[in-house]
Amino acid sequence: MEQNTNYEMCRKCGGVCCKEGGCIYSPSDFKIINFDSLKKILKKGYISISGQPYTCLINNNSWSYILYLRARNNNSNIVDLFPIGEPCMLLTQNGCSLNEEQRPSYGLAVKPTKIGGPCESRLTVRETFEWLKYSDILEKLIKYYTGRSLKEELTYQLMEKLILIDKINLEDLNEMQKIFYSIYFNIIENKPYYSSEEVKKFLLKL
Ligand code: SF4
Ligand code: SF4
Repeated sequence: MEQNTNYEMCRKCGGVCCKEGGCIYSPSDFKIINFDSLKKILKKGYISISGQPYTCLINNNSWSYILYLRARNNNSNIVDLFPIGEPCMLLTQNGCSLNEEQRPSYGLAVKPTKIGGPCESRLTVRETFEWLKYSDILEKLIKYYTGRSLKEELTYQLMEKLILIDKINLEDLNEMQKIFYSIYFNIIENKPYYSSEEVKKFLLKL
């Protein structure tokens, strides 16, 4: 994956993109990917199992969820399925705590083009599909850490966010984020869900 850095520009900017959340790893950032190796990596304390919902390719009216690893955000858990826009915990006054070898590939791929952002990034949900290969391992890890299946944990975490939004009038949480969570909730409650296994089988047939 292409690497783009402009330390001078990002220093002036103060890491605006890093303040919106940790960047995403590519599977190629890890030498080995299995249950034990990822458990060891997660034990380091600065990576979360995360991901995003997307409209499923099988049926435009349905949804699925792509799991991946990302740099962990402040005040966030090891399983963080709906990040709420907290800053990445690896951001320091001197920039990123990780060197370029350790930094998530999708973060390195962002091209610094505008102080204060948004900067040019080619990351689309389709590109994160390279994680589909490891979805069963990530789902087993979610069960290990939370005791719940991915589907159960998605509903649980979304409910938690909505309760939090309701309870505290989070000034930092902008209207767009509130709308996003409500839309997600509506989708999860009312639209058909396809598991990653089903998506993989569908893609193989194409
Ligand atoms: S928003 Fe752009 S300029 Fe600012 S830190 Fe991120 S990549 Fe650098
Ligand atoms: S890992 Fe580094 S580059 Fe990526 S969001 Fe965190 S501080 Fe920024």
